[in-house]
Amino acid sequence: MLQRIYGTAFASEADLKTYLHHLEEAKKRDHRKLGTQLDLFSFSEEAGAGMAIWHPKGELIRTILEDFERKEHLRRGYQLVRGPQILKRELWERSGHYENYRENMYFTEIDGQAYGIKPMNCLAHMLIYKTRIRSYRDLPLRYFELGVVHRHEKSGVLHGLMRVRQFTQDDAHILCRPDQLQDEITGVLKFVQDVVALFGFDYEVELSTRPEKSIGSDEDWERATKALTDALDALSLPYDINEGDGAFYGPKIDIKLKDALDRRWQCATIQCDFTLPERFDLVYTDANGERKRPVMLHRVILGAVERFLGVLLEHTAGALPTWLSPVQARILNVTDAQKEFADEALATLRAAGIRADLDDRNEKLGFKIREAQMDKIPYMLVAGDKEKELGGLNVRLRSGENLGVKSLDEIILLILADCQEPFKRGGMRYNFCSQ
Ligand code: ZN
Repeated sequence: MLQRIYGTAFASEADLKTYLHHLEEAKKRDHRKLGTQLDLFSFSEEAGAGMAIWHPKGELIRTILEDFERKEHLRRGYQLVRGPQILKRELWERSGHYENYRENMYFTEIDGQAYGIKPMNCLAHMLIYKTRIRSYRDLPLRYFELGVVHRHEKSGVLHGLMRVRQFTQDDAHILCRPDQLQDEITGVLKFVQDVVALFGFDYEVELSTRPEKSIGSDEDWERATKALTDALDALSLPYDINEGDGAFYGPKIDIKLKDALDRRWQCATIQCDFTLPERFDLVYTDANGERKRPVMLHRVILGAVERFLGVLLEHTAGALPTWLSPVQARILNVTDAQKEFADEALATLRAAGIRADLDDRNEKLGFKIREAQMDKIPYMLVAGDKEKELGGLNVRLRSGENLGVKSLDEIILLILADCQEPFKRGGMRYNFCSQ
């Protein structure tokens, strides 16, 4: 009998301590636990494995995040589109998905005709491109879709929101001229940098080059790989090279997030594709009236919205940034004597676009505060007799810090500024406090 024993070595005792601390923290921060505790989402064996059910607060978080995505894509010159959930099997045969990706797809039948449920959003975007004659002046075209996709994962690998069978991608396809490729890639990389900064992650970049089994000419591969490396160099982004790890249809850049526990999570990818424009005969006319092939970029910024939220929950231990918190402020009255005053304060906060609620139960203040802290609510606003007299509320942060009594106007400005703060890091300006 042999027994295998694994050991992990650390350079110093401090490293070992950090490692053990991270293990302990990871258990506490498990997004599945937080999802139940914060009442955000659940999974149901009755409904089917690998598909999340979103509760009111979870759906609110998603809606705020998706609103941000739509606005930010429009601001960066993308157009919003939407394709059907299921498309004829012939189309998947034409794209090569039926041949190469069938095992991960679900199929159905309508009127005796075979259909495939989409695992990717590319095909409808190409069909939109093909509905018009495109000239070199029309390019680049950037189609963005928060696309719901289904991919078959074996039941053994399903894991909370991190590994699911149904998810929403913040997916876009950029169709451009070869001479526009580098600028487009640079634009996507900047977009990723801004969004990663918004959420306060560190990240690593990987470039994957031509695999042995691949299609496309040497010239295509060289040009695309050069466009990717030039864009990375132009932004002075350090990167690792995964030799031969690209998709069969083109090279790609992957961005991996580093979370608070030093774990790596795949989020954004940018992939060059010469194949699909060929297979779907996408063309544009150049300045001389000649037919040319556009290049297609597939790209996501967050990747799967579900998984990104899982990562963000673990990264923040459930204490989401204020702009994304389903409840930004909770008013806690000490006794019924301040009930009316608290109701008025709630109405004022809500009118200012702040997502607030009121805990007016007949419970001890300490109990209410503990519960609000468990709910990870950024601002706890206590209304006692003293506060009522002063016409303000006592502001307590979820960190435990007490800011003292502030007027409602001051509180509103404080919360709005707090929402704005992370966007400054990404060079963006938003007000996401409206309901
Ligand atoms: Zn795609």
